[in-house]
This record gives sequence, structure tokens and C-alpha cells, in this order.
Amino acid sequence: MTSYKELGLVNTREMFAKAVAGGYAIPAFNFNTLEQMQAIVQAAVETKSPVIMQVSKGARNYANGTILRYMAQGAVEYAKELGCENPQIVLHLDHGDTFELCKDCIDNGFSSVMIDGSSLPYEENIALTKKVVEYAHQFDVTVEAELGVLAGVEDEVASEVSHYTKPEEVVDFSTRSGCDSLAISIGTSHGAYKFTPEQCTRDPKTGKLVPPPLAFDILHEIEKRLPGFPIVLHGSSSVPQDEVDTINAHGGKLPDAVGIPEEQLREASKSAVCKINIDSDSRLAMTAAIRKHFDEKPGDFDPRQYLKPARENMKKMYIHKIVEVLGSNDKL
Ligand SMILES: [Zn+2]
Repeated sequence: MTSYKELGLVNTREMFAKAVAGGYAIPAFNFNTLEQMQAIVQAAVETKSPVIMQVSKGARNYANGTILRYMAQGAVEYAKELGCENPQIVLHLDHGDTFELCKDCIDNGFSSVMIDGSSLPYEENIALTKKVVEYAHQFDVTVEAELGVLAGVEDEVASEVSHYTKPEEVVDFSTRSGCDSLAISIGTSHGAYKFTPEQCTRDPKTGKLVPPPLAFDILHEIEKRLPGFPIVLHGSSSVPQDEVDTINAHGGKLPDAVGIPEEQLREASKSAVCKINIDSDSRLAMTAAIRKHFDEKPGDFDPRQYLKPARENMKKMYIHKIVEVLGSNDKL
């Protein structure tokens, strides 16, 4: 058993309470490579932001759980080395699908886990979440649950259609399951193709796809019923058009990729939404920089030559999200 406390990590409890009270949201960036980790830590330190570094089941299989644990510990030490005296870094499991996986993460240094029972019948979702909460709380690990289903594809999590969270269920669910935060479905979606062109309208001036707006009425109804309770938004990448254009201009093929407009995430950050998950934007920033580099310098073959601009491009994106969208800067 390795407690996250030994690694210098924190759970989400105090972080979320401050974020809800302060009207901002904590960035939850997915990672599984050294360069992503370095860029996340540099961005968080430079902006004085708390940060959640999260790992999906697929990412954990890719990078190896033991390595990730030491990377998270390395992230804390690296933040200190960069001049941050008291880094607030969470290592979080994104979309845990079984009690056993959540337990394994808790036993191996994670400070927060998500148990995603959203595809189960309601009572089974409560029972599974409660089981994880009872184990996690013994070790002061916080638990995120999900109610409602997001559309889109994220690693092994995939659904064709979304089902919005029903506000009338949130009090019963959070009370009986004991979860510390709740991921809801209000129209965000996993992946870089969040909406089909048919679901969107086209901006007559630019010809670009405009996605349907988020269901803020549902969010506000949930806030009313669960005052001050931490709410989480998954699938909240914005799929920046300039990165998509760079990828497509340098041999890539991402037609009609669509994300969530940043104005809507900015608005959500001011509400009870206190954690916003961003994964695809980091993938796009990394891929755009690497494609551009290879196109311009086809003779390069040292990974550092193309991973350095990739890391810089991700860092720029992380800083932009923290300062311009979530408002979690200057909170340490
Ligand atoms: Zn998700």
C-alpha cells in the first residue's frame, strides 16, 4: 500500500470547496507521457494553479501503473524545484469501471478516483459507487461518480447517444452513494468529434460548424438542488480550430472535428462546476506541433527535436485554459 500522502499529492476535497466558493474550476488534464506531465506541471506552476493529473484505464495500461505513480511523485518534486512551495496536485483515475480497478489505484498512490457506473441501472450505479466510496474514504481518497451518459468515444468509454442527467435524481444519488463530486451530462461529449455535422449549424460567415449549446438549465437546476456540491464536466475539450488547421495543413486528416466553445466552459466554471476534463486538446496540440515539425524538417529523427515543440505547444494550451477559461490561476 502506497498512500498518496507519501507522494506529496492531495485529494480533491479542499480544492473543490475553494473552487465552488471562488467561482472557478480546476483543470483536469489527462496524461500518459513524460512531455505531457512536464507541460502540465510547468503550466500549473507558472500560473499558480492547482491541477488534477488524470489517467484513464487505457492510459494506465499504456504507461504502466508503477511508472505513473512515480511520475506523479516526480510531478510534485518537479513543481517544488520550479519554485512552487506548496504544489496542489491530484492524481486521479478517470473512468474507473470496476471496484477492483479503483482499489488498485487507491492502493498505489492515487488521491482521487472516478467510478463510472453511468451505464448501469440507477440502483446498481449507487451500489457500486457506494462500495468504492466506503473503501476510498478509509484512506482519505475522494471519489467522483457519474449520473447521466455522455456521447462520444474516450479510450474504452463509448456511447452513441447522450442521456442528460435528471436533476430530480441528484440529491438521492449523492446522499446514498456518498460520492464527493458528481460528473453530469449536459451536452458535453468525449473525443475530437463531439458532434456530427447534422447536429450542428454552420456559421454563414466562416462556414465552420457550430455545436448545439450546453444545457445550462439542467446545470442550474442541479445547483439549486445540491447547493455547493462539486460538479464535474467531462468531454470538455474545445478542439481549437487553429490546431486542427495545422494538422490538416501538414498531412493530417481531421475533417469537421468539433468541440465545446470556450465561452460556454467559461460560464460553466463560474457555477458549481469545479472540475473540467480536457484531454483531446492536449492530443491535438501535440500532434499539430509534431506534424508541422516533420513537414518543415523532414531530416530530423531525434525525438527531442520534435517533442520539444510538442511540449511547448501543450504548455501554451494548458496556460490558456487555466487563465482564460477556468480561472484557476493565482490560487496557490
Ligand atoms: Zn470522461
